[in-house]
Amino acid sequence: MSEDTISQIATPHGVGGIGIIRVSGAEAFAIAREIFRPARGDLGEIAPYRARYGQITAADGTVIDDCILLPMRAPHSYTGEDTIELQCHGGTIVLREVLLRTWEAGARPAEAGEFTKRAFLNGRLDLARAEGVMQLIAAKSARSARAARERLAGALSEEIAGIRHRLLGAIARIEAGIDFPEDDIPAASAAALREDIAAAAAATQRLLTGAHAGRILREGVKTVIVGRPNVGKSSLLNALVGTERAIVTDVPGTTRDVIEEEISIAGIPLRLLDTAGLRAASDEVERIGVARTEQHLEDAELVLAVFDSSSELTAEDQELIARLRGMNADTIILCNKEDCARILSVTDFDGVNAPVLMISAQSGTGLDTLRETIAARVQMMEGELSDGALPNRERETEALQRAARHLTEADRALAAAMGMDFVSIDLRAAYDALGEILGETVDTDLIDRIFSEFCIGK
Ligand code: GDP
Repeated sequence: MSEDTISQIATPHGVGGIGIIRVSGAEAFAIAREIFRPARGDLGEIAPYRARYGQITAADGTVIDDCILLPMRAPHSYTGEDTIELQCHGGTIVLREVLLRTWEAGARPAEAGEFTKRAFLNGRLDLARAEGVMQLIAAKSARSARAARERLAGALSEEIAGIRHRLLGAIARIEAGIDFPEDDIPAASAAALREDIAAAAAATQRLLTGAHAGRILREGVKTVIVGRPNVGKSSLLNALVGTERAIVTDVPGTTRDVIEEEISIAGIPLRLLDTAGLRAASDEVERIGVARTEQHLEDAELVLAVFDSSSELTAEDQELIARLRGMNADTIILCNKEDCARILSVTDFDGVNAPVLMISAQSGTGLDTLRETIAARVQMMEGELSDGALPNRERETEALQRAARHLTEADRALAAAMGMDFVSIDLRAAYDALGEILGETVDTDLIDRIFSEFCIGK
């Protein structure tokens, strides 16, 4: 357990009705005693989990703010330490002054993620759950929030703990039987071990299968809007986002750089990128824009290809169609400006494996159908974007893949009767790799790095 008592504003910056300052550590109650004066009576013995109304006072006794004090006693707090929460008025200056007062009384500023890091170090949360906290805060869609909540509730942790439990049982049986002559493993034991390994490998594989869905829910489906200048890409982005973020103009090529927005469709997060187009560039800035578009198209998961339905296909449109024919990403063709004279038709896109929708980014016609089509496509990408235990960090996927490799090796060693030492080494390695996801077998540098990604006050 840490020595220091830390404090920080837990509510977002800016003005709000209420602002909360959290103080955690051995001195938390002492600090409350020093800076908080109850409205009525003495503070006396601080009773945990009982709110007290009063005032935060400066060292000279002047009142800084009214406040509700909420004390929590270790280990029954978020961090697992003595904690007080001070609910003050949510003004920037007031909160700052109360925060300074807690520092004056002996706390130090909490680093980003330090409350949650303490919760982890004190065994309140494993690493997979702790990341759930961050992901819940960062979630940009309902589905993402649900996945984060399930992670926080332990869906992934329990799945991993289950596999590790099974592996530990197998390791224990091997170690108990180590006095068997090496090449004389009873057949029944070998069969039982192989069964354990197969079950662990299958469960690990199931988790890996969910990794893509997990990543989509955390980061969003990478969706690239492409099309020649002036077909209405920025207008489409704006219409889907519902704000005037991208600049819409009549001058071709104004969206030179890539504009990115996050939206949510049917609860699924989408990273929407409006690109500069693929046209041969006339200057350096545009050349860079075109190169970026190329790059984004390479790793897009969904492509919205926009055409102007009120004009004939140009050479540039034809080039794009040719590219779409060879593309891996899921594609939807959008004939925009359907409110104008309609010249294009579905047959113009023969050979492209994509639905063709008539829309108007300006009037909004067809956008609901577009949203439905996007939702259906994403569902198809992932089967039913399943809930439950979804790894979603590179680090987690890598650890699972390592575990899977060791399980394959263990099984091979067993099948080849290579000796129990070999089997046991690989089973241990798989066990440890899975433990990394829970934060059991990772070094402190990595722990520090992970928690430093959290926000201040969490
Ligand atoms: P971008 O260069 O592809 O991003 O195209 P913009 O979104 O900047 O649009 C180019 C022009 O087309 C603007 O003048 C828009 O107002 C216009 N525009 C976009 N969508 C529509 C539409 O659905 N109908 C009509 N009539 N005009 C549109």
